[in-house]
Amino acid sequence: MTTIIECASCGRLSLRDAGPCPACGAAKVTAKQAADRGVLVSWTVIRRPPKNSTETGPYTVAVVRLGDGPTVCGRIKNAEFAGPVGVALDLRAIENGVPVFEPARTVR
Ligand SMILES: [Zn+2]
Repeated sequence: MTTIIECASCGRLSLRDAGPCPACGAAKVTAKQAADRGVLVSWTVIRRPPKNSTETGPYTVAVVRLGDGPTVCGRIKNAEFAGPVGVALDLRAIENGVPVFEPARTVR
């Protein structure tokens, strides 16, 4: 399980452990628990990071819908990930505010 917040004003779910709401800025949020397993919605491999980035390519950026929580943008540990969409991913860490996923190894 991982901690998410639900905004009392707009209702948005976000992968954070405290406010304010990233969508509307409201300070009043409620912390909840959400599954740390999600489903891959989309992904891309960044081979040449932007010029002002401190990152080195390649790395994989992914959109992941957490089981009962928000849809988040993060990374997949495998730098050359190749899908498919719909595969189960587990949240392994949050590094510098960015969720990092790996393909699920076990069936739940
Ligand atoms: Zn909000």
